[in-house]
Amino acid sequence: MKRNLPVFAIYGGKNTGKTSLAVSIIDELTKRGYSIASVKHTRGEHSVDREETDTWKHQDAGAKAVAFSTPSDTAFYIKSGMDLNEILEILSLVSDPDMVIVEGMKDENLPGTDVSHAEVSEILDQLVETIELYRIEKELAGSDCGMCGYPDCNTMAREKYDGKDLHCTVESDVALDIQGKRIQLGPFPSEMLKGAITGMLGTLKGVESLENVVIRLNSEE
Ligand code: SF4
Repeated sequence: MKRNLPVFAIYGGKNTGKTSLAVSIIDELTKRGYSIASVKHTRGEHSVDREETDTWKHQDAGAKAVAFSTPSDTAFYIKSGMDLNEILEILSLVSDPDMVIVEGMKDENLPGTDVSHAEVSEILDQLVETIELYRIEKELAGSDCGMCGYPDCNTMAREKYDGKDLHCTVESDVALDIQGKRIQLGPFPSEMLKGAITGMLGTLKGVESLENVVIRLNSEE
């Protein structure tokens, strides 16, 4: 089971304070030690890049994607619109966030708020609970097997969040140990590692099953 990265949408009319609300939520959650990513969505058709910049010229010449790189930050311009799921996959890959704040997108499938009804302290309480549950669920095997006595991982995570001393009784299907220490893998790195390893091993002669694979790596220089 892939755990969904928590998303919170802020929507409302033009110049109604969406950005101010997004900034105060990002600022407060960051101060509390959470890793936050964000999306600024606009329905306008205009390009993100400005005409006659060097990156714009690269795009205009036909480059499908352009990276603008400086010693302190990196921007990517991609010459096509992307849906939110694609954007979330990329944000997960580059920053492994605890939550993504999405400004300017209203979708009934997304949790969120209309900026005109927003009560910041209530929103923060709700988001902290969501993030803590997500963090707990990330550590579970995610198979909803019921072996811990709860019907699924989400129920077990909620009980654990409420203070019960509970442990998942199933090992994740991907485990990474470095110098004897278990490295906790989020859903995206775990899926990526599993896909890369099984894809590569599946092409090798003599490999008939990919059950219980152990790889030993020593790359110390
Ligand atoms: S033992 Fe519980 S927490 Fe672990 S995978 Fe099964 S249902 Fe989820």
